[in-house]
Amino acid sequence: MMLEVDNLHVSYGKIAAVKGVSINIGEGEIVALIGPNGAGKSTLLKTIAGLLPASRGTIAFNGKTIANLPAAEVMRRGLALVLEGRSTLKQMTVQENLILGGYARSDHDEIAKDMEHLLDRFPILRDRLKQRAGTLSGGEQQMLVIARALMSRPRLLMLDEPSLGLAPLITAKILDFVHELKTRDNMTILLVEQNANQALHLADRAYVLENGEVVLQGADLASDARVREAYLGV
Ligand code: ATP
Repeated sequence: MMLEVDNLHVSYGKIAAVKGVSINIGEGEIVALIGPNGAGKSTLLKTIAGLLPASRGTIAFNGKTIANLPAAEVMRRGLALVLEGRSTLKQMTVQENLILGGYARSDHDEIAKDMEHLLDRFPILRDRLKQRAGTLSGGEQQMLVIARALMSRPRLLMLDEPSLGLAPLITAKILDFVHELKTRDNMTILLVEQNANQALHLADRAYVLENGEVVLQGADLASDARVREAYLGV
């Protein structure tokens, strides 16, 4: 397994947000994490990325423990997190945002190549290269934060609600691209999505998180009666 999280506990002071979660992801898989607001999905991703401390449990990435390492070190090992809310550097241009995504790399020739490759994949970003990121539409900013994360050449990409607040057509476009990352680039992806229907459709497997715990998991959750009732509205 590329990522193995075992019995992870994370708290904010006295509030326990993640309570004994175990999940894993194999190379080349898209794994979705669904669940209601406040279930602990973002907390889980942030802890894996080293942005929050784990109080108990283990996180292994490519067989090596990464729990409680500094976020920059986790990123250097090939794990990228795209936070919810499209945190572009709004005063900086699209190009500057992309360059920053590759800041930890030393292979400068490859950085330029990767940027070209990404701009081919996101022509809209090429058209806006010199424009300030803050002037992009919501969908364009989402593409930019994903492209910026890819500039670090991650082996595992974690996306926190990439469709949040986007129109259905734009959401479909973003999720199509996520699918392409898997099929064309063999990228491994951990996806948190409010839109359970699309997430389950896209993912190879999924976990349902409720109240800080994994309550269901599997490859065919879209046909699970509890999931259909609680998350798919059928
Ligand atoms: P959402 O989809 O609404 O972002 P989520 O599943 O990602 O939900 P989290 O954001 O991880 O859930 O929150 C899990 C729990 O931790 C919630 O009860 C939330 O109120 C609490 N929480 C999150 N961030 C903080 C914080 N900075 N301080 C205190 N409690 C927090």
